[in-house]
Amino acid sequence: MGSIPITLSSEKKKKPNQDQLEFGRTFTDHMFVMDYSNEKGWYNPRIMPYQSITLDPAAIVFHYGQTVFEGLKAYLTQDEKVHLFRPEKNMERLNRSNDRLCIPNIDEEFAIEAIKKLVHLEKDWIPSAPGTSLYIRPFVISTEAYIGVAPSKTYQFIVILSPVGAYYKEGINPVKIAVESKYVRAVPGGTGEAKTGGNYAASLKAQELVAGSGYAQVLWLDGVERKYVEEVGSMNVFFKINGEIVTPSLNGSILEGVTRNSVIKLLKHWGYTVNERKIAFEEIYNAHKDGQLEEAFGAGTAAVISPIGEFSWNEHKLVINNGETGEVSKKLYDTLTGIQYGTEQDPFDWIV
Ligand code: PMP
Repeated sequence: MGSIPITLSSEKKKKPNQDQLEFGRTFTDHMFVMDYSNEKGWYNPRIMPYQSITLDPAAIVFHYGQTVFEGLKAYLTQDEKVHLFRPEKNMERLNRSNDRLCIPNIDEEFAIEAIKKLVHLEKDWIPSAPGTSLYIRPFVISTEAYIGVAPSKTYQFIVILSPVGAYYKEGINPVKIAVESKYVRAVPGGTGEAKTGGNYAASLKAQELVAGSGYAQVLWLDGVERKYVEEVGSMNVFFKINGEIVTPSLNGSILEGVTRNSVIKLLKHWGYTVNERKIAFEEIYNAHKDGQLEEAFGAGTAAVISPIGEFSWNEHKLVINNGETGEVSKKLYDTLTGIQYGTEQDPFDWIV
């Protein structure tokens, strides 16, 4: 693949005000692009001015959704260093998603080099206010003009960057979650484990239905029995029951979060028992009834840790920890963000 030539943008966009950043609406001046064809493999990596792309209307991605993506962040430390948090985990997952969608693998080290080079070029775009960061969105689209259902023969791998504001503007804040008993996100043997557009398109309906009633996201149950906990919106989910931490095991239909993996490592490091297993929501309901459900929280790149203050499940409402942030949620949030922004020790060498 070789070196990565840079074509600089002739115009610089105006940078948004740091305390008015909305997630995912502003993009930087440049992007990384690389092409694929069956004959050449991945070729022509380049950094170029951020711009629209032109595709044939028959491009496979528009019709059959053969596409994958990733999401990670670059953080600016107080001494102006740029941190990436475990980018190798994202690139491993990108290739697992690629495998599932019949998209050719991408050299993971090269992809990280490309991200580093692009982020370095756009360093001025990384906001510095507390809790802000530069969101990195790598993705692959199938570009062949063919409306037969088959893997594309050509692709583009693109990386775009978006400055994002602090997730919690007034301190870490518990959310209300609706347990979804009708719609499902994924099924065994499906694509739940892959980060692919179709999973997100399929999730919109349930999300739309609860949003009006004050619920931040839905908790997905398994696609067969609507009984077992899978994940929360775009986060993995954890519970603290009677001192022990439990989270659904990776069963093929749950997305394996980088934050999830990091949370489990930290909790074990601190001496907690963490059990990855099947969890029926009824078990959560009973633990709550018995006064043993001490905390619940989501874990994902966007919020890092999102404490859950209330679940609604059919006609039941479960208020957790008086709707306040629990001790473990708080400690995980502080430690993970501390590592990301370089104010805490990094015991596992997660920072690049
Ligand atoms: N589940 C889903 C469905 C997601 O979209 C995400 C966000 N990528 C996660 C879990 C959390 O993953 P991560 O910790 O890698 O952001």
